[in-house]
Parts: sequence; C-alpha cells; structure tokens
Amino acid sequence: MNNVAPKLTSKEYEANFAELKPALTDVAALAEANRCLYCYDSPCMTACPTHIDISTFIKKISTGNLRGSAKTILSSNWVALTCAKACPVDELCEGACVYHAKGEKPIQIGKLQRHVMDWYVEKRMPQLFTPAEMNGKTVGIIGAGPAGLACAAELTLFGFEVTIYEASKLAGGLDTHGIAPYKMQQQDSLNEVKMIKRLGVKIKTGVRVGKDISFEKLEKTHDAVFIGVGLSMPADLKISGEEMIGVVNALDFVENVTKRKWKSVDVGRRVAVIGAGNTAIDAATEAKRLGAEEVFMVYRRGREQMSAYDFEFELAKRDGITFYFHAQPKKIVGKKKVQALECLETRIVNGKLKTIPRSEFKIPVDMVIKAVGQNIDETFLASIPKLKIKDGMVVVNTKSYQTSNPKYFAGGDCINGGKEVVNAAYDGKRAAYGIHNFIFKKK
Ligand code: SF4
Repeated sequence: MNNVAPKLTSKEYEANFAELKPALTDVAALAEANRCLYCYDSPCMTACPTHIDISTFIKKISTGNLRGSAKTILSSNWVALTCAKACPVDELCEGACVYHAKGEKPIQIGKLQRHVMDWYVEKRMPQLFTPAEMNGKTVGIIGAGPAGLACAAELTLFGFEVTIYEASKLAGGLDTHGIAPYKMQQQDSLNEVKMIKRLGVKIKTGVRVGKDISFEKLEKTHDAVFIGVGLSMPADLKISGEEMIGVVNALDFVENVTKRKWKSVDVGRRVAVIGAGNTAIDAATEAKRLGAEEVFMVYRRGREQMSAYDFEFELAKRDGITFYFHAQPKKIVGKKKVQALECLETRIVNGKLKTIPRSEFKIPVDMVIKAVGQNIDETFLASIPKLKIKDGMVVVNTKSYQTSNPKYFAGGDCINGGKEVVNAAYDGKRAAYGIHNFIFKKK
C-alpha cells in the first residue's frame, strides 16, 4: 500500500469498535417487556423468518422467567444471540410491530432477545433441550455457518449422530468471521458454537471436504449430507489493476477486523470501497474507524438502488463516508501499488445503465476494497454428482431442502444468493426435518 494510515491507540480502537447498541438494564428490559400488547396474531412473529414466538418470550421476561424465555427463543432459532444483535430488526420483527400504527416506538424486540440470550450465556448456557436417543443414522454437514449449525442442532433432537466439516479454524461462518465488532463480538458467535457442541455435535475444523476428506468417504460415512457452504468466492470487478498491492476483498478485510487485532490491520489513508450493500458499508465504516482519513463509497447506480439498509447508510453517513453515486469503476491506477481509482459517470437511458463517454475522473486512493458481492464455489460443488445449480445457487426443493442429488440437502446463502443470518438459521432447521423425513421415509 502506498500510504498506510497511522495506527491509533488501543483506547481509540476500543472506543471506535464499541458496540453501537448497548444492552438494556434489567429494569429497562422489564419495562419494555411490559409494553408488549401480546397481540393475538403477533405480526412480529410472522415477520421473523424463523417465526420465534415473540410475544410469548417477551411475556416470560415480564414474569421473570428468563430461562423459559430462552427456551422459547432457541426452539425456533439456534443462533438467537447473533440474530438479536445483527438482524435488521427495523426491516423484520420490529418493523411489523403494531405500535407503528399507533405512531409510537415499536417494542425493542432485538434488545429484549439479546437481554435473554446474554442472561443465558452468563448462566453458562444450561441445557434446555435433550437430544433424542441415537437413531443409528448419521449426517455429515459441510460448513459450520448458521445454516449448518442450526441443521446440526435440530438433527440431534431427532437422534442423529452429526459431524460438521469446517474448512476454517473457527466455526460459526459469517457469524464468527463477517460481522462488524460494533454490532456483535466474535465471542458471541463462538458461544453459540459451544452451545451446539454440547448437544453432541462433532465439529471438525480445519477440514476441507474434497481435500482432507473425499466426497466418496463423506457419502459412505453418512446417511445424508447437508451443504451449508455459503458464498465463498468474492466477485471480481473485472477491471485492470485488481492485482495491485492495496486491493482487497471486503470479506477478508472485515474478517481481519473481527479478530480485534486492530493494530495488525493496515488501512490506507484514502480508501475506496466499491459496492453498495451491507458488507460494503461495514468495510467502509470499519476502514474509517481504523483510522483512514477519507473513505469513499463508489456505486454505479443511485442511492435509491443501494441494497444496504437505511440504518446502515445512516451509519456510514455519520462516520463521514463520502458517496460517489453513478460512478462506474473503469480501472485501478498505479505502479504495483494502488494510486487512484478511475471511474466513468453513469446515467440511466431508457431504463438501462449507461456510462457517459469521456466522463472519466480519478479518485486518488491508497486502498481499494472490493465489495461487489460473493458467489458460490461452483468448482467445489461440481464434485457432487447430479447437483443442480441455477443462477449461481444450489437448487433445492423448497419444502424438504433436498437437492437434485437425493443424498444431499442444502440451505443458507448457497441456496438464496445471500440473505440474512436468520434466513440461514431457518433453512438449516427446516432441512433437518427434510433429512429426517428422507431417511425414515416419511411424507
Ligand atoms: Fe408485542 Fe409488538 Fe409483537 Fe404486538 S407486534 S406482540 S406489541 S412486539
């Protein structure tokens, strides 16, 4: 990198990456729980992709039954602490709360869920579910992200012996490696992994399926296999200069920040982040909080087309990020190291995005973070016979989560192209039912 931003003090890093949403006190949680109207049709529950019985878990908080509340939450969602902290609640449960219709603040469902799950972790996660007696069947799971973990946990309740094969050293997938520390701590995700291990799930980390264990062996060892591999291949910009020193992938950058070894993460003084999704916003705000003097978000369309949520956009604005809308990166300029990002202006003509000829302009930067999306690893998945992939996603039966190869099931980002953790948690749980029905020939 041409120009690395000066390192901050440990205190400054801690302050910059402190959690943005503080926990509720016991008194505040009780008061908030008592505001809930316990709606008979609970629109909040319908809006939650895992359909947690929200009004019931809140009611249990109001009666001081936090253990019962945790059980209600976890019986729908095995990664409930991550979801409490990282879910876009404004768009989901809280967005559907009836208080909106009264012109009042919705119930803080996310914070109440966090209150319960924090209590559960503090109490050292007492066992709330008893795995069923072993049924003699075994399931292999590829990937220890939220879909794989949820599938594994649910399978233990049916009596399956479950082994997860995870290529990384740490389990948890994006919950462990890809969520900004000011939203949640890596340890939160690792606690959830611990909880799932306690159900008897074996997690083999640092094991690459197809390399450290062959697909043939996997298929011989297990009665069914669940694929929860997410989207592991960063999309390229397909412009010249991508190979230069100072060009990084957003997920690699975010993963390094998640480790909390702030001083070891180099960031440029001037940084361009290309993309407009939530990961792009995370990368931009993290770069700023690591000490970059100026951070630019570069997006070829307008604000209205950004896929990032409003609250993420507002956060980036608050952090002083500069937005270049209608700017299409043309090339990365430099001599081995990044010196600038050259872009073309764009406009919409007859509904189509067009670049404007001779509208080139340069943004001088030392670092370019690519955040234009992730793809599935098609080469890896091609090793599974008869596995159908369409539009960059593994095709599954939407009820059973079974793929075109009957022995394989799949869920999470690899079947939906990249949604929320909560969607992956739901997929994993539902796929466990699909696997159980398949193995025991139930309809
Ligand atoms: Fe409570 Fe709001 Fe859900 Fe009604 S919609 S049950 S008030 S959280």
